[in-house]
Amino acid sequence: MKEAPISGDVQHVVKRVFIKTYGCQMNAYDSARVIKLLEPLGFLPAVEPDHADVIIYNTCYIRDKAAEKVYSELGKIRQMKIARERAGGTMIVAVGGCVAQAEGAEILHRAPFVDLVYGPQSYHRLPELIGRALRKGGAGIIETNFPIESKFDYLPETSATDGPTAFLTVQEGCDKFCSFCVVPYTRGAEYSRPVAQVLSEARHAFEAGVREITLLGQNVNAYHAEGPDGKDWGLGRLIRELAELAGLDRIRYTTSHPADVDDELIAAHRDVPQLMPFLHLPVQSGADRILRAMNRRHTADVYRRIADRLRAAQPDFALSSDFIVGFPGEREEDFLATLNLVEEIGFAQAFSFKYSQRPGTPAASAEGQVPESVKSHRLDILQRLLKRQQRDFNEACVGKTLSVLLEKRGRHDGQLVGRSPYLQSVHVAATDQAGEIVPVLILGASANSLSGSLAKGCRV
Ligand code: SF4
Repeated sequence: MKEAPISGDVQHVVKRVFIKTYGCQMNAYDSARVIKLLEPLGFLPAVEPDHADVIIYNTCYIRDKAAEKVYSELGKIRQMKIARERAGGTMIVAVGGCVAQAEGAEILHRAPFVDLVYGPQSYHRLPELIGRALRKGGAGIIETNFPIESKFDYLPETSATDGPTAFLTVQEGCDKFCSFCVVPYTRGAEYSRPVAQVLSEARHAFEAGVREITLLGQNVNAYHAEGPDGKDWGLGRLIRELAELAGLDRIRYTTSHPADVDDELIAAHRDVPQLMPFLHLPVQSGADRILRAMNRRHTADVYRRIADRLRAAQPDFALSSDFIVGFPGEREEDFLATLNLVEEIGFAQAFSFKYSQRPGTPAASAEGQVPESVKSHRLDILQRLLKRQQRDFNEACVGKTLSVLLEKRGRHDGQLVGRSPYLQSVHVAATDQAGEIVPVLILGASANSLSGSLAKGCRV
């Protein structure tokens, strides 16, 4: 790790940081890195914003009205900041993440009390930026240029881990430019972290007690970096190397793009027992006409073939996906093609949304915007089908013995909650095996979770 610039002011004035994280797992990972980054400066995490000297909103731009939600949140914090300053104290308010990248100066215009706006590629500079914000006393700072240096070179090698699972960002940014998506504009071009850096962070995680790692990237299977042998390593090769590290019991990765599922990755599913038999692989639509309009760079049949190959590579493989209904130009027959694809593939889980316009993306100004009532109707039909598939998948687990990584206490005494290989929440009658992977006989299933008791004889 290279040394990030540190301001002396930070060390002496500010002691507590509150971070509110929106959106995806990568934002959760980034927030954990920020905690670690600020730790050497004497910061401790605050549970509530009114106990904090620095308040950070790590924002997400994916969901509908994301920016408005951030402004509403900022409105709530304004009185708190005024009260603090009237009492002679200091409160730095920072907005980071993808809304910050997309809105930039507009945030300072609409919420002038904000001290700092920074993009997702600049958070390694936070110690310096917070110091500058303290010195500037009220004039907002904007740091949304994509820096030349990689932030990963300036971040601590460890994240704040909590329990036996951890995220590890291996790739960031996206070059795909799906016509509905803001990520290429907010996170920038594709970037893969060097293999050695990834392995080192993974080792630290295992030493901290982590048993399961989820490799993260906006387009994680676009990962390509030079390996220690001087050759280009893709995600499949990286997974094989991670699997060699003692102590690693489970590997997952998210989010993937169908166009980047290659032979090496499928072979990793066949050969690496730690790689879980479950993949979130967004398809978005089952109609090629819409996939083309979305600039998805794959067809529905390509997706079908990938599903077949993954199922051939790893027994009991299960898929999850993302769907957008009511994309501009979507006709009834396109929607029916989506329903057909869902019926054919069969999903264990899925996320589905009505298309909503993201300012600045090509689809936002495309012709053929679908009326809200039609979108709602289609979404309702699709979600019923997906929910039925999820319930069927969960019910098919009853009577089976699944390996479960127990993560934390459940809501009831004598109960721990963990995850199955398929990411289902499993409530287990157990008390003192937190952090362990145990065989669980599944006795009950609901729409969203499973329950069971400790069993013997399962390969874990
Ligand atoms: S591949 Fe994913 S992150 Fe990249 S533009 Fe498409 S939807 Fe957005």
